Amino acid sequence: MQLYQSNPIKIYNSLTGKKEVFKPINEGHVGMYVCGPTVYSYVHLGNVRTFMSFDIVFRYLKHLDYKVRYVRNITDAGHLENDEDSGEDKVAKKARLEQIEPMEVVQKYTVDFHDVLNTFNFLPPSIEPTATGHIIEQIELISKIIENGFAYEINGSVYFDVHKFNETSQYGKLSKRVLEDLIHNTRTLDGQSDKRNPQDFALWKKAEPQHIMRWPSPWGDGFPGWHLECTAMSTKYLGDKFDIHGGGMDLKFPHHECEIAQNEAAKGCSPVNYWMHANMLELNGARMSKSTGNTVNPHELLSGENNFFSKAFAPGVIRFFVAQAHYRSVLDLTDDGLLASEKGFMKLMDAINLLDNLRPTSTSSIDVEVWKQSCYNAMNDDFNTPILIANLFEGVKFINQIKDGNATISAEDLATLSETIKTFAFDILGLENHTNGDSGTDKLSGAVEVLIKLRQEARANKDFALSDKIRDELAAVGIVLKDGKDGTTFSLN
Ligand code: AMP
Ligand code: ZN
Repeated sequence: MQLYQSNPIKIYNSLTGKKEVFKPINEGHVGMYVCGPTVYSYVHLGNVRTFMSFDIVFRYLKHLDYKVRYVRNITDAGHLENDEDSGEDKVAKKARLEQIEPMEVVQKYTVDFHDVLNTFNFLPPSIEPTATGHIIEQIELISKIIENGFAYEINGSVYFDVHKFNETSQYGKLSKRVLEDLIHNTRTLDGQSDKRNPQDFALWKKAEPQHIMRWPSPWGDGFPGWHLECTAMSTKYLGDKFDIHGGGMDLKFPHHECEIAQNEAAKGCSPVNYWMHANMLELNGARMSKSTGNTVNPHELLSGENNFFSKAFAPGVIRFFVAQAHYRSVLDLTDDGLLASEKGFMKLMDAINLLDNLRPTSTSSIDVEVWKQSCYNAMNDDFNTPILIANLFEGVKFINQIKDGNATISAEDLATLSETIKTFAFDILGLENHTNGDSGTDKLSGAVEVLIKLRQEARANKDFALSDKIRDELAAVGIVLKDGKDGTTFSLN
């Protein structure tokens, strides 16, 4: 029996405010949607934290053999400067300021986003749809909402009728807001006189003559509201009801609240079984945010070109730092915190590097199976990565005890210990066994990786003479390459 079956995953559902046993709609399959970035500027480390939290969820579910369809969109249209449907489209504004095409803005920041994710060893999602690629689906959804009586058209724009919706459902159930309070707290802004009520939100906005991003629709030329794209794309690829929807805490209201309202209004059902929200990364005690400029660019942290930090940090160290906090806790990005994570990360990697040299005996003085189960228990408990890391350090302690002759381990248990610690560190937390290139060993690893890449290129070009030469000459200096299903690894002879 699989471990996870004996001890099911529990997920904290933001909608109910409770940890609930995870039961996918289709046994063995998981549909997961996570709101992606708005590609009008570089992603900051706060964005990376949220995406990393869901990368770990994705990795863990895959590890448990679920067939996961993970959809993470790219917002390339419709996200206005203000939540109240006012201001310019963020992408269009950037295009105007930089005097380039909106799609050049989108391309530039999407490429950077992918580059950052690759550097941090993210798994690609199964589908990465864009808002502009799904205008037809969004128009269809609006038509359905109008047909069902929950939206109205005025002067070329279409608004969702929050008050009408609230008569049959409860607007605010995710963010625990009550419409009455929203009515008292909503600012009435100039230029919003079209709306019947200030709480209503845009499904379609009329494009003014100068607006560059525009599409034809039954209501005239315009562009979709931001909340709509996620409803259209999540249900297109995952069905009207799916398992997990994630995003940062700041998206609960209005974005996710509006997603629920749109789905219920169009299809009569709440779309998501488990809403997951990652908490914020802070800098100097304030939320990292593109709009306030209180941000750290990942490239700067990796290269050390940021005055706030004493040195450069490797991607694995930053991943480790993120995983040391539970995804639902606020995390403060500090130099001290990163330095401590670097120490922890190195300690874990050093222990993993010792594994191949440990000598098994006939019996074990430690219970590896109990330890292994506790690693799963941590992840099954709402993906509790800090507890998992504490367990991995128990494993580090075992390894050091065995090395120093203070504990014994059988060959079978050693294999379990080795496989488990590597699986959790590399496959699930996504750490990579390299550091910042500070030490001689790291530089050697870096150089061998370069040669492995060259050999792969040679093989791809069918230049087997060169690929064999690289392998043989490395072997001659005691570096043995081993080809496995997950790529080539090396060991020192
Ligand atoms: P955006 O590109 O602004 O739409 O944000 C992309 C993702 O990053 C969303 O899921 C946000 O909730 C998330 N996010 C934004 N700021 C932070 C932060 N300071 N800490 C963690 N996640 C964040
Ligand atoms: Zn979204």
